[in-house]
Amino acid sequence: MSNASGVPGVFAVQCPNPKCRKYMLVEEHDRGKVVPCLLCKTPIRVGGAPVEPRPPASRVPPSQ
Ligand SMILES: [Zn+2]
Repeated sequence: MSNASGVPGVFAVQCPNPKCRKYMLVEEHDRGKVVPCLLCKTPIRVGGAPVEPRPPASRVPPSQ
């Protein structure tokens, strides 16, 4: 899911606003920051989408 744009160091984020859903390209150094959507100004957390397959085991105790 990293480099869908094909440009190194740049990746796409999608506006969480259901009425907007604009994709924007942000740079790698913006990861972890919050940037406003260019259209609706909704704050978008860059890299906020959970890419990691599993959370650390110590954080989530098993429910059983
Ligand atoms: Zn937007």
